[in-house]
Amino acid sequence: MSERLDYDIVIAGGGMVGAALACALGDSPLQVALLEESSLERIRPGADIDLRVSAISRASQRIFAAVGAWEGILAWRVSPYREMRVWDAAGSGQIHFDGAALGEPLLGWIIENRVIQTALLERVEQLDNVDLLCPATLALASILEPEAHLRLQDGRELRARLLVGADGADSRVRHWAKVDVVGWGYGQKAVVAPVRTEKPHQETAWQRFLPTGPLAFLPLHDGRCSIVWSTTSEQAEQLLQLDEAAFARALGEAFEHRLGEIVEVGPRGAFPLRLQHAQDYIKPHIALVGDAAHVIHPLAGQGVNLGVLDAAALAEVVLEAAAAGKDIGSLKVLRRYERWRKGENLLMLGVMDSFKRLFGSSLPPVQWLRNLGLNLTDAVEPVKNLIARRAMGLEGDLPKLARRWR
Ligand SMILES: Cc1cc2nc3c(=O)[nH]c(=O)nc-3n(C[C@H](O)[C@H](O)[C@H](O)COP(=O)(O)OP(=O)(O)OC[C@H]3O[C@@H](n4cnc5c(N)ncnc54)[C@H](O)[C@@H]3O)c2cc1C
Repeated sequence: MSERLDYDIVIAGGGMVGAALACALGDSPLQVALLEESSLERIRPGADIDLRVSAISRASQRIFAAVGAWEGILAWRVSPYREMRVWDAAGSGQIHFDGAALGEPLLGWIIENRVIQTALLERVEQLDNVDLLCPATLALASILEPEAHLRLQDGRELRARLLVGADGADSRVRHWAKVDVVGWGYGQKAVVAPVRTEKPHQETAWQRFLPTGPLAFLPLHDGRCSIVWSTTSEQAEQLLQLDEAAFARALGEAFEHRLGEIVEVGPRGAFPLRLQHAQDYIKPHIALVGDAAHVIHPLAGQGVNLGVLDAAALAEVVLEAAAAGKDIGSLKVLRRYERWRKGENLLMLGVMDSFKRLFGSSLPPVQWLRNLGLNLTDAVEPVKNLIARRAMGLEGDLPKLARRWR
């Protein structure tokens, strides 16, 4: 364990986003500490697929590759998906995305959160300029110019020119920085589980919009699918209580038996859904990334992808400022990060929230319009391609680590 007390950057939270940031700051002149309160043993993937998986965009994959973690991810297990089929339960509206039609070999990957986090943390352990303090909990932080003073739960004290809150939706760093959030709960939960279907998933991500919320079937490498069934909190609780056979029947019906019968159901879990956006991403000597800054409905699988882009953008801003001899904790430097990422994240938050509301409406004119909208978008290739390329992270103001030509 390092005895160092003074760091350039301390990152609170070694989830997928904080760990990606630590890797992006690797092999630089900056001294970095990454604090993660769970132990590495608890994070490590098990023999079977975990409940929590993420649809990973091409941009996130490029960032993982550029920071030296993609090989580690592949060494565990990943599931590519090449197509996506989305349709409306109330009507005939549907849209189909195909990687081949976009000139891309695939649309993205379905990967367990634990696999991504473990591969990134293993990469962090190889970096000379980054100390991984794990398990270690940040218990208190205050700003005493010109730096942040930090106390860990075990009594250790650290100092940093920049403290990054990568500590998730209930971020304590955000709380200590007195940053307010805007947002609301959806009164909904996402039920997740690995399931086996009668017919093969065809390396396709499937999503049916029900009036209660979207139901997604995400393809896994062993032929199963990982489901994300967003619905009212009451129905979610009922679904968790059902025995396996009754749950399989309910799931098959909700999915219109698109992949035949549900023949096997793994362990189930449920996660509450909310929309949340921090009013500020930065304060003097503090920056927020990932879910600490924004929480988005999982219907388009964008949450962690936005967070990984935050991490790459913040690393780029800070490394350039350090190279120019600037104070990396100053608002002047950090504002570039906030300006860059806040607009991009807000746009995606707004679009996903509108989708959620649009597909939750049972008003016939709204149903008719959204079906028309889906079919029209499906028919107009340039519009459809633009949407797909944006979701894949191939368009937008991308950090250098996410660009193709890197
Ligand atoms: C059902 C569901 C499905 C989803 N599907 C997708 C998807 O397909 N694609 C996608 O892009 N996103 C998806 N998301 C969103 C995604 O899971 C989150 O955006 C992502 O996990 C956020 O990562 P993070 O690292 O910012 O935060 P977290 O994953 O919350 O990590 C925070 C870390 O900080 C640590 N920590 C907290 N406090 C402290 C402290 N004081 N000291 C030290 N460590 C601390 C925690 O232990 C944790 O490891 C989904 C979300 C849900 C609920």
